[in-house]
Amino acid sequence: MTRLKEAVKAEEGEIYDIELDADLLKVNEELAAKNRELLRKHNVTAIDVMGAIGSGKTTLIEKLVQALKGKYRIAAFKGDLTTTIDAGLIGKHGVEVVPINTGKECHLDANLVRKAFKRINLAEIDLLFIENVGNLICPADFPLGSEKRIVVVSVTEGPYMVVKHPFIFMRADVAVINKKDLAQAMGVDVKKLETDVKEINPNAKVVATNCRSGEGVIEVVCALGL
Ligand code: MG
Ligand code: ZN
Repeated sequence: MTRLKEAVKAEEGEIYDIELDADLLKVNEELAAKNRELLRKHNVTAIDVMGAIGSGKTTLIEKLVQALKGKYRIAAFKGDLTTTIDAGLIGKHGVEVVPINTGKECHLDANLVRKAFKRINLAEIDLLFIENVGNLICPADFPLGSEKRIVVVSVTEGPYMVVKHPFIFMRADVAVINKKDLAQAMGVDVKKLETDVKEINPNAKVVATNCRSGEGVIEVVCALGL
């Protein structure tokens, strides 16, 4: 059963862009604080899932939904430029999904998440997954008001994805190193990626996964404290 809601669409010029104006970052932070307040009022734990295109964000969310839907009432927001493919994949697991289409922009912001709140009833959920637009750079600068932030990186992205993107790992609570089953074929050392994360952010919890098979997903649940 797919429970896809109508997509939230960004208006022209609606997305605040850090490159254009640092003040807009501050506006985003204020809106994120309001989002957090609203989520707390309704006892909803929101988790922002960031990572490059193809890293496995959607698959991770699907597996987390499967593992947790007996325990929590779950909804999801899915940021993408124009498509609702991922939203449909998550929605197949019987949870309500709001696609957020950003148009040309490469990240979600607190304002769009705020608009998406209007499509769901926060009183009826406990847990909200927010899949960000596939990108390892600017989502880091745009907090959404979530309780926790996950960044997913896969071994197929090569050995330097962590060290090349320190800011997103600095801001993550949990780092997921996905597709560990392909590490040998890719010639990538999972342990080295784990060490790279810890060097950038000693407080981050690091979990190696194969989200496709579900390996490591329970460890992600534990790392999120769920
Ligand atoms: Mg996805
Ligand atoms: Zn962006």
